[in-house]
Amino acid sequence: MAGTTAEILDITNPQRARAVAVSPIIGPHGGSVGLVVVELSAAGLIQEVRLLWYVSIAIFLVGLVVSVVASNLASRWVTRPIEELLRGVDEIARGNLRARVLSQSRNELGALGYAFNLMAKSLEASKAKNDEQQALLRELHRTGSQVASTLELPRMLETASRGLRAICGGEEAFAGAMGPRDTSVRQWSRSGPGRLDIEGWDTPVTLLEEVLRGDTRLLARNEFAAAGLPMLLDRPGDYALAAPLRVSDQTLGVLIALGSRSQFHPEGISLAALFARQVSAAVGNARLFEQVRAVDRSKSEFLSIASHEVRTPLTVMKSSLDILVSSPKFEYTADQRQLIAFCQESVERLIRLVKDILDVSKIEAGVLSIQFQPTSLNDLIEKCLFWVPQLPGGQGIEVEARLPSEPAMVLADPQRIMQVLENLIANAIKFSKPGGKVTIELKGHDREYEVIVSDQGKGIAPDDLIRIFGKFYQVADSATREQGGTGLGLAICKGIVEAHHGKIWAESALGDGSRFHFDLARVMDAPIGDRAEGVISVDSLLSSLRTASARAARIE
Ligand code: ADP
Repeated sequence: MAGTTAEILDITNPQRARAVAVSPIIGPHGGSVGLVVVELSAAGLIQEVRLLWYVSIAIFLVGLVVSVVASNLASRWVTRPIEELLRGVDEIARGNLRARVLSQSRNELGALGYAFNLMAKSLEASKAKNDEQQALLRELHRTGSQVASTLELPRMLETASRGLRAICGGEEAFAGAMGPRDTSVRQWSRSGPGRLDIEGWDTPVTLLEEVLRGDTRLLARNEFAAAGLPMLLDRPGDYALAAPLRVSDQTLGVLIALGSRSQFHPEGISLAALFARQVSAAVGNARLFEQVRAVDRSKSEFLSIASHEVRTPLTVMKSSLDILVSSPKFEYTADQRQLIAFCQESVERLIRLVKDILDVSKIEAGVLSIQFQPTSLNDLIEKCLFWVPQLPGGQGIEVEARLPSEPAMVLADPQRIMQVLENLIANAIKFSKPGGKVTIELKGHDREYEVIVSDQGKGIAPDDLIRIFGKFYQVADSATREQGGTGLGLAICKGIVEAHHGKIWAESALGDGSRFHFDLARVMDAPIGDRAEGVISVDSLLSSLRTASARAARIE
């Protein structure tokens, strides 16, 4: 035996189980001289081992339970609040400012959750305020543009009173303005529930200026009378937000919102001041517009009266000259005849000018009389072609009309549409080169007929093209000066076509001729007659006219 050995025997039977330990006894010379054998009953030992085993299992189980409970508690106190915070942050990041976290713990994480909720609440409140301010700014912009979109003062004041109420939220709102020569605000508009007679409201501007001193102010009830607003004492509302309408240090009117003190917060007051500035500019524009309109009206009236006065003596001169030329009682030398012809030509030009000026005045005053009746554009164009050769330069130009077979029926004043056609054709001939060609086309579209007068003349530069329909506009070149004219023809054409609810426009480029178009709504139920489609030339029309008059002469 090299050393001590021990063994438990009969371990399966705790009654008989023994523990045996054997150890050699070593003699002085190193050899084994005997054995020590110790044998013990192992029952107690086994019981102790079992006990130890049970105790270890119990400790393990208790440890397991403790660790589960501990991990639960840890998740409850640490992980869950952190997850909850993360969820809250995520919701806020996605724009849900109503997100809140559940924070029950009393530790630092609980405090963090509480702080998070406070932050989210104040974010939500400031977002709501921001939204409200944005909505007010949008309203300010919308109403401001609406106010500026009209130059009619009553409509402007109505929009302004509605806008002020939407911006300030008062019970009632008023917008008042004064006329150019007024010393008090007399023209009022109101927005609010129910009806109110504001006829006769009169606020002296001096009182208003004394109290407001050019600023937007919140007036208490006891200041209403001093500001020239005693009529507001009968209205509900203890406070009046008053914003003066001013342009260049001149008061033009006032905006007033009535309500309780709490209704008017500082932002509302600043917005009202801003709104008043927009309305002031618009009221200023409306006043200027009214002044321009008044000047224009008196100019048109003057032109109309002057033209009437000039027309009578001109007509007398014309008929006298005609008599002088045609009467066999008078005899003239060639020079005298030429002088009379010059006079006749000048008188005719003056009569045309007066007629044009009268037409323009009527168009501008909106009193151009239009006698609507079913009219065939084909007939009008054909009639026009008869006098083409009489136009200055008309003989050297080929004029051609392309008309559809069916009559192009429109509801129009034939005299006025003839005037348009004559003007466009005369211009086309006037600005054509000798030997050029003028074409008149008539096209049918779904809802309208279009007339196109084209020439192969010098054309019109883009800068002039956008101006030629204006009054007295003539292209500044020698060719135009040579031709003479008043610069009123196209303005009159535009006025006439627009009075027919039609459209007139021109296409041209320098050196490329010009095309003048106008369209008129078609009469859908107009009778459709048969007519030969094709090209009608002036010559063919003249010859048919000659044949017709010759036949008439034979009959006579
Ligand atoms: P007017 O012919 O009496 O001058 P209009 O109003 O009829 O007045 O025409 C205005 C100007 O437009 C003319 O002076 C001319 O410069 C230009 N214009 C009009 N029609 C034509 C055309 N067919 N070709 C070139 N220029 C034209």
